[in-house]
Amino acid sequence: MAIEPEDGLQKDEEVKKFFRPSLWHYTTQYSLALLLLPLTVLTWHFLDYTTALIVVLSIGLLSTTELYRRGHKFFVTNERVVRQFKFFKKRFNQGTFDLVTDISVNQNILQRILKVGTIKVNTASGENIEFKGVKHPRSIKNSITEAKHDKHQRDPKTEKCENCEAENPDSSNYCSDCGEELGT
Ligand SMILES: [Zn+2]
Repeated sequence: MAIEPEDGLQKDEEVKKFFRPSLWHYTTQYSLALLLLPLTVLTWHFLDYTTALIVVLSIGLLSTTELYRRGHKFFVTNERVVRQFKFFKKRFNQGTFDLVTDISVNQNILQRILKVGTIKVNTASGENIEFKGVKHPRSIKNSITEAKHDKHQRDPKTEKCENCEAENPDSSNYCSDCGEELGT
């Protein structure tokens, strides 16, 4: 089964890109976990419990970091961007292209070197979707811009929702923002 957003795909919707935060985004956690391991060489033979504790700590930190990283799912479809996060707590944000007002990339110097960065998608509904620490953020940003453009070409006409005033494609039956049924 192909991976898709938690709320499923709408009719004619397809996933263009699926990605997660890069391993590099968690460099600190991973290095800390790996740096703990050489310590076991020092404690080996004469401090059994300490050695075991260090190994458990290191593996614990590695697996927690990886589970946390994998708790994120980012999607770019031909209709919207979706960010979902599941790790004890759950979050789901999405923005349909009609509502997207701007897309920006943030990278500090280290991130520039590692080719990772954060993509921020602002929407007219006030919901801002952040893809944190992703690999090749500029190329993803371009894909989003392109998908938004394609969407607009396909569905240039819009209809205003009476409930929340969001612009929806003419072909939509329900408001993509608040779920209100749209007049026909
Ligand atoms: Zn609405």
